[in-house]
Amino acid sequence: MTRQVALVTGAGRGIGRATALALASSGFDIGLNDLQPDEHLETLSAEIDDLGQRTHICAFDVGDTTQHDPSLAEIEGVLGPLTTLVNNAGIGVVSRGDPLDVQENSFDRCMAVNAKGPFFLTQAFARRLLSRSRNPNVVYSVINITSSNASAVAVPRTEYCASKAAASMISKCFATRLGPENVMVYDVQPGLIETPMTETVIDSYQARAEDGLCLLPRVGQPSEVAAVVANLAGGCLPYTTGHVISVDGGMLVPRF
Ligand code: NAD
Repeated sequence: MTRQVALVTGAGRGIGRATALALASSGFDIGLNDLQPDEHLETLSAEIDDLGQRTHICAFDVGDTTQHDPSLAEIEGVLGPLTTLVNNAGIGVVSRGDPLDVQENSFDRCMAVNAKGPFFLTQAFARRLLSRSRNPNVVYSVINITSSNASAVAVPRTEYCASKAAASMISKCFATRLGPENVMVYDVQPGLIETPMTETVIDSYQARAEDGLCLLPRVGQPSEVAAVVANLAGGCLPYTTGHVISVDGGMLVPRF
């Protein structure tokens, strides 16, 4: 029997943490990535052990492409061949503000972590996957956590929006390349989710959601995005690839 093994980037907190737990609850062993091999990953690893699944902590910066293949090799050396990649790690802007004031370093950071990292990590994952025989009964997938901001502009965070739009197109490109190989690629677009990333703005997001910004009058939870990812990785949306899956309480439904 082929074991399902997933790498979740940015698993130390927020959506990544919840996703690692949801996948482990669905029977996946998990490579746990974040910037540092700190107590957050250790605690998460212990929780997943309690669920009866195996983990391996592999800290690296997803924006550093030299780390990609050695890290995948390390994880596979411990857990066995990866079946699933969740490109979740992401960062916001250095400071919110007028697009006319955006600094080059903030643009470059967003692009490196949110777009270039997932592109080359997917490339490294796919090269390894395609180099070996695969089990036709197993779902192999790449799940990119992009954002509603891949299509909806947030004026104070334009460089973030640009990087997520790039990540969304990267999902389509790899879905196209990997479709003939029966490898699914999904673009999961969370809306307003309560995580450490949004902690300073979550009250205003909640108020805006209640005020009609979202069809469901509340912000979302990391566990809700995680449940969608686990269902995709587990093959609950068969004959589906390359598409956007919005987890946004209906925020981007066009209305007038
Ligand atoms: P978060 O900031 O709470 O957690 C992100 C995790 O990624 C952190 O543990 C961080 O250390 C890690 N990380 C950051 N840069 C990294 C790097 N270079 N290499 C490895 N790990 C790195 O964020 P979150 O809200 O959980 O967001 C997760 C993903 O979902 C991000 O891609 C984010 O853009 C996206 N997203 C979030 C929301 C939201 O409302 N929270 C909405 C849309 C999209």
